[in-house]
Amino acid sequence: MKDHARVVIIGGGMMGAGLLYHLAIEGWTDSLLIEKGELTSGSTWHAAGQCPSVAGSYNLAKIHAYGIELYPKLEELTGQYVSWHGCGGIRLAFTDEEVDWFRHVNGTRDLIGFDVDVIGPNEIKNLIPHLDVTNVKAGAYTKDDGHVDPAGACNALAAGAKQMGAEIVRHTLVTDVKSLPSGEWQVVTENGTVTCEHVVNAAGCYARKVAHWSGTDVPITNMLHQYFVTEPIKEFVESDTEIPVIRDPSASAYYRQEQKSGLIGIYETAPEWAEEAWGDVGGAPEWQSENELFDGSFDKSMNHLEQVLERMPIWANAGIKRIVHGAIPHTPDANPLLGPAAGLKNYWMCNGSSIGIAQGAGCGKYLAQWMVHGAAEINMAEFDPRRFGTWTDEDYVRSKSFEDYNRMYACPLPGEELDTGRPKRTTPLYEKLKNKGCIYTAAFGWERPKWFSLDGRDEHYAYRRNNVFETVRDECLAVRERVGILDLSSFAKYEVSGINAEMFLNRITANRMPRKDGGIVLTHILNANGRIENEFTVTRLSDNHFYLLSGAACELRDFDLLNQRKDADEQVEIKNITDDYGVLVLAGPRSRDVLRTLTQTDLSNDSFKWLSGQSIDVAGITLRALRINYVGELGWELHVPMDQLAEVYDAIWSAGEHHGIADFGVYAVNSLRMEKAYKGFAAELTNEITMIESDMERFVNFGKGDFTGKEALLERQNNDLDLKLVYADVNADDCDVRGGEAVYKGGRPIGITTSGGYGHITKKSLAFAYVEPAFANTGDTFEIEILGDHRTAIVLSDPAWDPTNERMRG
Ligand SMILES: Cc1cc2nc3c(=O)[nH]c(=O)nc-3n(C[C@H](O)[C@H](O)[C@H](O)COP(=O)(O)OP(=O)(O)OC[C@H]3O[C@@H](n4cnc5c(N)ncnc54)[C@H](O)[C@@H]3O)c2cc1C
Repeated sequence: MKDHARVVIIGGGMMGAGLLYHLAIEGWTDSLLIEKGELTSGSTWHAAGQCPSVAGSYNLAKIHAYGIELYPKLEELTGQYVSWHGCGGIRLAFTDEEVDWFRHVNGTRDLIGFDVDVIGPNEIKNLIPHLDVTNVKAGAYTKDDGHVDPAGACNALAAGAKQMGAEIVRHTLVTDVKSLPSGEWQVVTENGTVTCEHVVNAAGCYARKVAHWSGTDVPITNMLHQYFVTEPIKEFVESDTEIPVIRDPSASAYYRQEQKSGLIGIYETAPEWAEEAWGDVGGAPEWQSENELFDGSFDKSMNHLEQVLERMPIWANAGIKRIVHGAIPHTPDANPLLGPAAGLKNYWMCNGSSIGIAQGAGCGKYLAQWMVHGAAEINMAEFDPRRFGTWTDEDYVRSKSFEDYNRMYACPLPGEELDTGRPKRTTPLYEKLKNKGCIYTAAFGWERPKWFSLDGRDEHYAYRRNNVFETVRDECLAVRERVGILDLSSFAKYEVSGINAEMFLNRITANRMPRKDGGIVLTHILNANGRIENEFTVTRLSDNHFYLLSGAACELRDFDLLNQRKDADEQVEIKNITDDYGVLVLAGPRSRDVLRTLTQTDLSNDSFKWLSGQSIDVAGITLRALRINYVGELGWELHVPMDQLAEVYDAIWSAGEHHGIADFGVYAVNSLRMEKAYKGFAAELTNEITMIESDMERFVNFGKGDFTGKEALLERQNNDLDLKLVYADVNADDCDVRGGEAVYKGGRPIGITTSGGYGHITKKSLAFAYVEPAFANTGDTFEIEILGDHRTAIVLSDPAWDPTNERMRG
């Protein structure tokens, strides 16, 4: 084994091999993969090998699509047998919401590049005559997907990587990973040590154990899952064509042909079975375990098997030949962990995939791009391991992973969040607002108000406008006409100070730091390619002392960005003070009248300008008041010491009652910010694009000197763009843009939406979309496919609400 490599990957399953192959494609061939047993001897070898096209999100679907594109040609590329069966798949729908979800997925087919049709029961029956289609409303028929031999695919990726120059060492247990003073990593094995620049944890069910060596963790539970293989079935023996893989939510099962036999896999929903995990709580299996299988259990799956039998009676004609019962790593939110470990430089996660055969190639491709080029071509935010933090305790990890397992076939509905594992991060207002009807949404563990159920109603989750549409409208009206209050304490908050603080922030972000105390700017950290890494609102508190705010989900990512961009000789102190301050948004034309009664500070425009901040006393409590907001009204964000948040809220509420104050939530914020055309980080502003495509150049200060990404942006300015961001008015009626819908012109796809919503005050359905520049001019029209219907949209030049910011300046 060599003693130095650019990259060491720990683990030779589908995820590790997928990464090794794609690092080599990107030119990093000095990579070494170390596997304790044979390649595939963890979860990979016994998988059923299905590769579905339909996935929970747009970016995940891109990961799936790449595997489905690669596997059929992998044998030709590498010479290794992979046994690709392109039999297609049909996912069944039993409810209207599931059909709408299919329509939503169908709307992305041209962008992602997969062939899907939403078909009716008769067409399903034509394709699979043995299936009973009673109660089936529709099927999502994906024609290009199928199944692969997992060991074959993994070995093919490994062989391909080796052909390009990468190395693989088998039968070598990694026993430790140490950081060296040089910034490199030392990987200790039972057969010697390797020093490397980058280390990758692709250890599957062992990923937690491996992570613990370096003082970090991964939120994984190893769930036990089984499938049954039948004796040959007469109907399959007599047919020349293989049936599509069936995914049946009513039985929480998948079933398909395996040669001339049948294969039935079950995701049990009853807690006694869906909460079976391998390894200790918080831990992982013993190192010596290899090709591990568990005893099969009919009891575990019996209820589901009976349903499968009813749905497809030909199963009854054959006995069960084999049960394959193995372990799969599951994360709390079903997505794999791809990207840097929090707080560790050049330590990468490539694990946590519960559908790792389908995802292994795509995960490897996009993670390799991130490692080699500093950013992937798809938005990786939902896979970044730093979406979890210290709040992700053992109780959360296990209960959410169980939920992920037993809801494997649940239809993802917009806005639906279960209570499992919650609440984790609350403010002192949590119970008070709950008693007022607050329905919460979780963001990076924080519970934040989504909407207020003043009459006790529950939300009927749906892709179309639903029974909270009017409730949200009332919250928007309160903000636009009177005054609204919102607990938005979930912001990530940092203080950056020290004699080089200003120079440091000017060097690492694109805008110029405010020169006057109290000044506020919006600024972005870019990578060397000019792509957007983050967004900060920065307030200058005093000389070389700055207060930075970013989105809740970015707390660890942005802390890493700040720390890792700091030069060793720069005197800068960076503190994460997220938990120290709560934030109340007070917004609306009466907000000044309300606040005025509680403070001695002059709140007039002359003394407290828009886009400035001051330390003021409110109801006797000293806090930071920033005259900004994301809803486009006169207002303040009040950053209050967390333990005094409730006191300030109570005082404001009492003072505001007379002005018709109302609570509002983030559903209303989305509507209000869409009316103001405010872009969202991770939706419009992502690692896929620069400040130029996203129409954010006014936040770039080219004149201030050098900053990371400047050269790339200057070059970009001189080149033709592929896409440009537009803001559009959509001719919609019962459903609005959510993001991820395809945009067409003359039947040809020309772009994609990033987010949208209904503007309750302007009565417009609004959307952001990246489209080809030829269609990005004011007044241009195109069509957006929303739940199967093509809706005309027109590009707007200005925000639908208050384009000159009169109200915010008021
Ligand atoms: C019954 C069953 C059916 C499934 N069906 C499907 C399916 O149809 N489609 C699908 O997409 N997925 C399926 N899966 C899931 C799939 O198997 C996993 O998601 C996937 O194999 C995970 O790959 P991995 O590389 O992360 O982990 P693994 O394959 O477990 O690889 C990790 C490797 O790391 C090695 N390792 C760990 N620690 C060390 C160390 N310290 N030193 C050296 N080596 C180490 C291990 O030996 C192991 O080989 C199924 C799983 C099961 C159990």
